[in-house]
Amino acid sequence: MLRRTFLWVLGATLFVSQWLCPLSASAYEPIHRIDTRHKVVALTFDDGPDPVYTPLILETLHKNHVPATFFVLGSQVDKYPKVMQWIEKAGHEIGNHGYHHYDLNKLTEQEVYDEIKQTEKSILRTTGILAQHYRPPGGVITHDVMNAVQTSGYDIIHWSVDPRDWSLARTSAAIVNSVKKNVNSGDIVLFHDGGLNQKQTLAALQQLITDLRSQGYRFVTVSELLDEFDSNG
Ligand SMILES: [Zn+2]
Repeated sequence: MLRRTFLWVLGATLFVSQWLCPLSASAYEPIHRIDTRHKVVALTFDDGPDPVYTPLILETLHKNHVPATFFVLGSQVDKYPKVMQWIEKAGHEIGNHGYHHYDLNKLTEQEVYDEIKQTEKSILRTTGILAQHYRPPGGVITHDVMNAVQTSGYDIIHWSVDPRDWSLARTSAAIVNSVKKNVNSGDIVLFHDGGLNQKQTLAALQQLITDLRSQGYRFVTVSELLDEFDSNG
């Protein structure tokens, strides 16, 4: 009887704590996607700002009224502050992708923290925006990364659809097909506006926007996607 009462109290406590703060248990788990019955998808662009491809990608997004989220590198922000400001002025969401794009497996917790904070300062100084979301370079998650992100107060945002647009072997048709084959409601799609192969990303983008819209998808930022989760479960 005593044991049963204990279990009941334990269960009730867990239930109430979940109910009061439903995201607390997983706040520092990486978010790959959300469950929603609405046809929403978040396009994300990493490794910019790039002086050539970011403005072209911004132009395509603007022409189609598509909001996106840019996970920028602090080193690129400091090199191309004007391009960073264009991203912000166009109304897109800005996320933190660290400063140097180092291999996080080789960094200490303090070094990861410094990467995040240095980038935070670059973004803040250039745009006045305090980013909320962090995407680790390469999606690398270690205990040190988790602790550093938790201390710095960011969410960890991964992705659920990766058309591997960074690969020089990828044609724009392959990028379009890969996304169309794999995308579902609530997904986060990974693209790159900086790096090696952004000509193909740019070429794929218009086609993808047209095709996904014709399938009924609505484009949202990462924060808007997370709000969908809050409101729909
Ligand atoms: Zn990256």
